[in-house]
Amino acid sequence: MKDTSCYRFKCHVVEAPHDIEGGHVFFKVSDDTGIIECAAFEPTKSFRNVVRKLIVGDELVIYGGINDNHTLNIEKFKIVDLADDYKLENPLCACGKRMKSAGKDKGFKCPKCANKIRDSSKVRQIIPRTVEPGFYEVPTEARRHLSKPIVRFNDN
Ligand SMILES: [Zn+2]
Repeated sequence: MKDTSCYRFKCHVVEAPHDIEGGHVFFKVSDDTGIIECAAFEPTKSFRNVVRKLIVGDELVIYGGINDNHTLNIEKFKIVDLADDYKLENPLCACGKRMKSAGKDKGFKCPKCANKIRDSSKVRQIIPRTVEPGFYEVPTEARRHLSKPIVRFNDN
């Protein structure tokens, strides 16, 4: 990794992390100038577990270098702000029971007290985040691996 290709920039996650074959984790971020794919490669080991917890909307400052595939190898990052994570659920009935769908576009009904509502919109249920704002860095061992110059063997 050349010094000239090292970057530090503020961005936010626009595509959630996903694993690819070999244990590498990829996700996409955007700053004011465009979208770039970021990678936490397999040698970064447990660092990837933090990366996997990122969701769309998280604000980060990323430090890393761009490789030949125009992918940014993350060396460290700071989580500046965490987005709200949520799932959509059926509403709760006034009696406290989670309601069930009464059929497509037919609202909900309560399995306990038979109460019905006609509105079919689900409600946001906040999911607590399992990662905190702060600095996260790849383990020293992996950093050494990542910054090792690529050795090429030439016949001439
Ligand atoms: Zn009820």
